[in-house]
Amino acid sequence: MKTKLKQLCDSYQMKFLTDVPLSGHTTFHIGGNADYWIEINSVQGLGAVRQLCTEHQHPCFVMGRGSNILASDDGYRGVILHIGSAFSDISFTDETTVVCQSGAMLSTVAKIAEEHHLSGMEALSGIPGTIGGALFMNAGAYKREMKDIACSCTYIDKNGTEHTLSQEELDLYYRHSFFTEHPDCIITSVTLKLCKDNPEEITSRMQDFSERRKSKQPLNFPSAGSTFKRPKDNFASKLIDECGLKGYQVGDAQVSEKHAGFVINLNHATCAQVLRLCRDVHDKVLAETGVILELEPVLLGVQEGDASCS
Ligand SMILES: Cc1cc2nc3c(=O)[nH]c(=O)nc-3n(C[C@H](O)[C@H](O)[C@H](O)COP(=O)(O)OP(=O)(O)OC[C@H]3O[C@@H](n4cnc5c(N)ncnc54)[C@H](O)[C@@H]3O)c2cc1C
Repeated sequence: MKTKLKQLCDSYQMKFLTDVPLSGHTTFHIGGNADYWIEINSVQGLGAVRQLCTEHQHPCFVMGRGSNILASDDGYRGVILHIGSAFSDISFTDETTVVCQSGAMLSTVAKIAEEHHLSGMEALSGIPGTIGGALFMNAGAYKREMKDIACSCTYIDKNGTEHTLSQEELDLYYRHSFFTEHPDCIITSVTLKLCKDNPEEITSRMQDFSERRKSKQPLNFPSAGSTFKRPKDNFASKLIDECGLKGYQVGDAQVSEKHAGFVINLNHATCAQVLRLCRDVHDKVLAETGVILELEPVLLGVQEGDASCS
């Protein structure tokens, strides 16, 4: 497989690496080595690699910025298809319609929107991920979600064939999309519909959201953002705080003292420590409040049974 992947990557001029530490590519700074790592630079290259993996039944996993991923200490026995800066073009089809390759960062798209006096991205601008990762999860903040601005996307299926989805077909709702149901499919571009607005007001809203993040979130520690999904009619952080779990620690994994919704990596936390801590939090919150907390980050390389609260 290694030789075949290498040859294919050479022919599409895509960077091919072996034994890549996932801790260096996730915002949690956790994870062992991935066998193979490919830097995607085109739809054609992506399609060809995806098809090869399917033909050989070789596992592969798409990674954007790695800001919503908890990777196993044992790493990943497969190919990481990294969709990042080499696949991040942003263009306009008309004054208010922006087409982004899936590796474009939300912060970059928001900055370009601001420069073009376009509103819609302000609340999402501080989410530290790619537009593909954001569409996958229907990322959202401050009452805005990708659902409000994404009007279509393109993706490739496991045979490397490209398709388009309309807004309705995207099936976006809280932390759900067509893609959470079809993890074999890979988003290649996202089309956003924004609207013209007063430039000073756009800038001021972006600054306000940014200040709110800085004051409420433990941004000086590695994490994957909110560790648990929002339970119905409640907030995970509120329940965790009420159960007295702020500051609770397993090894170097800690429930942040600043924001109980975040599990942070104090220094050298392992995936096993984070999972153990999450299981403890899950069990205590369930026992004291009857609410079931579900993990939000996507688990990579973690074996069945390692994470009983997922
Ligand atoms: C400090 C901090 C704050 C955060 N705040 C928020 C917040 O306010 N709101 C929020 O919703 N999230 C938040 N997050 C979580 C995270 O940033 C978002 O979920 C983000 O959208 C993930 O994008 P990513 O590129 O990092 O995806 P990754 O973490 O790389 O991947 C996440 C999932 O998406 C899949 N995926 C990625 N790219 C593609 C693609 N092109 N095609 C198909 N599948 C793909 C991956 O396979 C994986 O299953 C925060 C995280 C951190 C660290």
